[in-house]
Amino acid sequence: MNAATTQEQRQSISEDDVTIIIGLEVHVQLDTKSKLFCGCSTEFGAPPNTQTCVVCTGAPGSLPVINQQALRLSIKTGLALNCEIARFTKWDRKNYFYPDLPKGYQISQFDKPICGLGYLDLFDQRDKSKTRRVVLERAHLEEDAGKSIHDESKQGGNSRIDLNRTGTPLLEIVTQPDMRSAAEARAFLNELKLILTYLEVSDCNMQQGNLRCDGNINLHIRVDGQQIATPIVEIKNMNSFRAAERALDYEAVRQLELWKQNGLTISDAPKQTRGWDAATQTTTLQREKEASADYRYFPDPDLIAVTLSEEEIDSIRSEIDRLPAQWREELIGQHGLKPYDADVMVGQGRGVIDYFLNVAEGCGNSKMAANWIGQEVLRFLNESEATIESYPITSTQMTELLTRVVGGELDQTRAKEVLEQMIEFQLEVQSAMDKLGIKPVDNQEIEALCQQLINENPQVIEQIKGGNAKAVGALIGKARKLNPNASPGLVKNTILKMVGG
Ligand SMILES: [Zn+2]
Repeated sequence: MNAATTQEQRQSISEDDVTIIIGLEVHVQLDTKSKLFCGCSTEFGAPPNTQTCVVCTGAPGSLPVINQQALRLSIKTGLALNCEIARFTKWDRKNYFYPDLPKGYQISQFDKPICGLGYLDLFDQRDKSKTRRVVLERAHLEEDAGKSIHDESKQGGNSRIDLNRTGTPLLEIVTQPDMRSAAEARAFLNELKLILTYLEVSDCNMQQGNLRCDGNINLHIRVDGQQIATPIVEIKNMNSFRAAERALDYEAVRQLELWKQNGLTISDAPKQTRGWDAATQTTTLQREKEASADYRYFPDPDLIAVTLSEEEIDSIRSEIDRLPAQWREELIGQHGLKPYDADVMVGQGRGVIDYFLNVAEGCGNSKMAANWIGQEVLRFLNESEATIESYPITSTQMTELLTRVVGGELDQTRAKEVLEQMIEFQLEVQSAMDKLGIKPVDNQEIEALCQQLINENPQVIEQIKGGNAKAVGALIGKARKLNPNASPGLVKNTILKMVGG
């Protein structure tokens, strides 16, 4: 491994010789009311330095106390991610100096993380009928640092520190380098976020910094029968999943080009930290480190270690409801949804699934409910950036509308007009139908309508008589113009019966 290569050898490699190796570190802010080791609020958006105390600002003599809820949420996450849960876990001080870290150390977990090996299965991005497993190395609990606020005006100015976030509980989830493309890394992040939101352990709001991710990436390249690895780069500042995908894609290309020029491998060059610059869509060098920095970890003498019993872990396990993968299976297996539709619905969150289940059960037709929610409801939510909770039509109203479609009182086209009226004028189903002048059409009216169509369209009738029953389709649009309340299905069947086709 990592033998020297010539310029000629390096230029001759093809795309198939290159494997992208990606691992991720994700910091998730746990949804607790108070901080990890003190009672200060974690509420976002308060004026700077109003949510601090002697503990989270590190005053001498103050003592931290562990937040039990943070511990529970970490264990819940670990169980959902198939991790081994430690029966014994402890706290360590990670020492470094930085303005936003008032104590001069961060309380973290070094050698006894709360969650050990686990995994997450993803759809294979190249073939969605298969899955790929990403192994999780560990997940540990730690406190967040504060936030530096820099004056970026042209004149320059002061940098200030806001310590409101200092001591907020974070779960750091570390994967093994198991992802093989930037798209796969993004799929991992999507699925992880979905699981975390289904578990209600974090809102994963990236704008507020409640989910942050760093990526480690390098390339394995086959060249003349041997395999080399390029130097590992850690990318920071990937502040959205789309940014993460772009940054990793960019970095894979950059590393290949660089290696073709200089031939440097993992043993020739130190690990670099690079930052993603959204403005230029490039990564730029932040720092190089020879070896992993020496944080002089040692057990925190102010905190006692945590011992967990089987009963405690089982009680947390019993709180875990169905996860996204189980919901997909259920929607496909029990409600007949197509895998794609099930995936879209699950991706929208628990609220949409509950809405669907209510409507499907209420109207008695899962497929119709899935189509309407997939097309009408989700389109509305996407266009208006509303959530299912603020969608103007309740699941009860939607059930009533679709019950009328199932019962034949409305066809799909008219039902969509009714839905539009309901949304626009905040009407119930019946009032919207009245407003549109929709009323039941009796058999006599239908027969008179069909007779008129037969009289006025002799050519079509000849075709039907000649055995082409499909020709009747040409009359449906005409029927709608004559009487929009006449059901197309009924008109079709009546004409065929009258013509004897
Ligand atoms: Zn505090």
